[in-house]
Amino acid sequence: MKGGKITKIIKEIKVDVNKCTGCRSCEMACSAFHAVPKFSSVNPGRSRIIVIMDEGRDVFVPIRAGDYAQAECNGRNLYMIDGKEYSECAFCPASCPSRDYFKEPDSGLPLKCDMCESQPPLPEPMCVQVCLPGALTYEEREEEVDDNAEEPSRGEMEIGLESLIKRYGMKRVVETLSQFKK
Ligand code: SF4
Ligand code: SF4
Repeated sequence: MKGGKITKIIKEIKVDVNKCTGCRSCEMACSAFHAVPKFSSVNPGRSRIIVIMDEGRDVFVPIRAGDYAQAECNGRNLYMIDGKEYSECAFCPASCPSRDYFKEPDSGLPLKCDMCESQPPLPEPMCVQVCLPGALTYEEREEEVDDNAEEPSRGEMEIGLESLIKRYGMKRVVETLSQFKK
């Protein structure tokens, strides 16, 4: 049976790489916000945003953690933007086996940006609030989506959990998930 349409708020963070100075305030704010208890520690290794930096070439690319990738990709594209060369990895949000980004330091489990969902809600995500040069800006817009496209299906969640358990073991996954619930 076909579902109806619902209006969903789409949250977006726009990145202007030309404004990023590599100050890494976004990494610190994100890790503090997600510390348990909140703001009890600052550890950029726990941040869900990482600034890829090549100071010699004046390249700074903030990327937010996306979905976990079980395998690394085979190819790499290179991008030329305004005379600077960027590797495809600089823009990729995946927590993947080919690099150390977006892995929880204690458990090694993948981290993912949750747009700082919290109660009460923040006016803007933490990384945007602390980005004084204005490289990160926040926008919300409404979009009509299928009623049943709102949540991942049970099958999708099981596939995601299954691949994590296969790689990290049931014990580590359960321990880390119970930490997030505190
Ligand atoms: S806070 Fe803004 S300017 Fe500083 S590193 Fe992060 S994105 Fe770049
Ligand atoms: S939106 Fe929140 S969770 Fe996502 S990278 Fe920014 S501070 Fe971290």
